[in-house]
Amino acid sequence: MSLAAFLASLDQLATDGPARIAAADSLEAWSEVRNALVGRQAGRLSEIMNGLGALAKEDRREAGQRANAVKQALEGALEERRAAIAAAAATSGPALDLTMPGRRTWHGAVHPVSLVIDEVIEIFRELGFTVALGPEAETSWYNFGALNFPADHPAMDLHDTLYLGDDQVLRTHTSPVQVRTLQQYPPPVRILAPGNVYRRDFFDASHAPMFAQIEGLVVDEGVTFADLKATLTHFAHRFFSPTTRTRFRPSFFPFTEPSAEMDVACGVCAGSGCAVCKHSGWVEILGSGMVHPAVLEAAGLDSERYTGWAFGMGPARTAISRYGIPDIRILYDSDVRFLEQFAR
Ligand SMILES: [Zn+2]
Repeated sequence: MSLAAFLASLDQLATDGPARIAAADSLEAWSEVRNALVGRQAGRLSEIMNGLGALAKEDRREAGQRANAVKQALEGALEERRAAIAAAAATSGPALDLTMPGRRTWHGAVHPVSLVIDEVIEIFRELGFTVALGPEAETSWYNFGALNFPADHPAMDLHDTLYLGDDQVLRTHTSPVQVRTLQQYPPPVRILAPGNVYRRDFFDASHAPMFAQIEGLVVDEGVTFADLKATLTHFAHRFFSPTTRTRFRPSFFPFTEPSAEMDVACGVCAGSGCAVCKHSGWVEILGSGMVHPAVLEAAGLDSERYTGWAFGMGPARTAISRYGIPDIRILYDSDVRFLEQFAR
């Protein structure tokens, strides 16, 4: 073989090789091209190199150098191509499927009990009430004693109250906030105290061991039962409807005297009687009364000088009658399909 023929074969490979490398569009195709060009067994370069021994001795040096240069050029181009194929695979990712349903933007919803609490607070805020909070773990003095519960009151029984220790309970109502507020702030006091309370109860359609309560308290000089009636009637007209009828029924609580429960005309049957109002035409919405002088004294106030009134309502019960919720347990399920109905 002549040197000219050997070099011509190398030139042919140096020209064809890069075009074949550039055409490889996958790692498999690239691997095939590499074997065909520079593979040790059957590569085109190896074939040409096999002819080296047939050249004249003085030509071998030049032929060898040219072959080496072509080999390096091909290997450089191969490496570049391999990197490009790998980079393209890394950035393209999985195929884009335009028929996939989109991801829905997530909107949370306000729990119906929170909706009621927010609305009650808003109505009383317009009347100058502020929000006060207290601890859920209370001493039995704040939960019972300061609120004029006699020492043998059945509410203090283990049967009804969750005790954390000898003297500590999970508060059974939000009324301890009354005493804590009066100890801290001199009258005039106008507060709302929303919060969770605990009873030793099992879940059923109308009971839960933990539920929200909203307490209201007004203490000042010259506060009368007429203020209680007027304010709570105003609240009912704002919360339900301006024409909602209300009534007060005598009741009893240890911490108020006199005490009254407030009913509103049933919103479902407008007072004619239905299953929701148990055919009475009325739905009870809160308990209220004039703050007992013993409670004012327990908080360190002069009960000859100051009077006050208070109320407590259960926003869960209000939400149930307002939204027609059939079972109180639904309020504790955290089922978004239920909660989403109340989105504002
Ligand atoms: Zn009714």
